[in-house]
Amino acid sequence: MHFITGLKIVLVLQISFFAFIAFSAETGIYEIPVSDYVTGRFNPEKHPLFVNLSNTDIPVARKNLYLRKEAALALSKMLQDFRKEYPKIKIYVVSATRNFYSQKNIWEEKWNGKRTIAGIENIKAMKGDMGKAKAILQFSSMPGTSRHHWGTDIDINSLTNEYYEKGDGLIIYSWLSKNAQRYGYCQPYTSGRTGGYSEEKWHWSYIPLAKNFLNDWNKIYKETEGSFLEAIPFDGSVYIKELAPLYVNNINPECQ
Ligand SMILES: [Zn+2]
Repeated sequence: MHFITGLKIVLVLQISFFAFIAFSAETGIYEIPVSDYVTGRFNPEKHPLFVNLSNTDIPVARKNLYLRKEAALALSKMLQDFRKEYPKIKIYVVSATRNFYSQKNIWEEKWNGKRTIAGIENIKAMKGDMGKAKAILQFSSMPGTSRHHWGTDIDINSLTNEYYEKGDGLIIYSWLSKNAQRYGYCQPYTSGRTGGYSEEKWHWSYIPLAKNFLNDWNKIYKETEGSFLEAIPFDGSVYIKELAPLYVNNINPECQ
């Protein structure tokens, strides 16, 4: 009896051990399954591999912005070097990791007409869920499909492309376009792509980690035929399986 109980414990420990290894190889985070990680179903505030940017030298627009530690370290170095050249111009982070639930809030507020959408006067008057989804998808991801879930992506200063076309914005954008890759950062949503999200000059991604999470996302999409995205439904999620891979993968080739 005792032996059998002992054997069960050994077996459970062995199974847990293999689960541990399977998860750790992908994300570096042991207790979160990869499919939960890449769809943002975890709390970055509680995870030791994430850092609160308020505890670093990275300037922030608000409290409680989190990034993976490697991404924050590279960003800190990049901004230090920018400041050496342009001490008077401020670059600061306005958004970093957003989990599934915060992305769900953004998406549903837009879907239900409670938050404005560029170029759309009244989304509730629009006919057809596909058209509504595509209108929101110009600049916002569906929950479960955002690079902001991964702890690798940031938005800076201003969420309008016009800001980066003159003055400080232009200096910042030109400097980042030339230098960001030296620190592992890249602009995923450039102009001139043939689909996906519109150009976002404010969104930068730490590629050494993000490229792995993009591969994981695609691998799980293929294995589950997209059904891993349906674990938690949200308003307007009806076309998620069809639209998500087109938007997730339509990025600047230099960021892959
Ligand atoms: Zn962004």
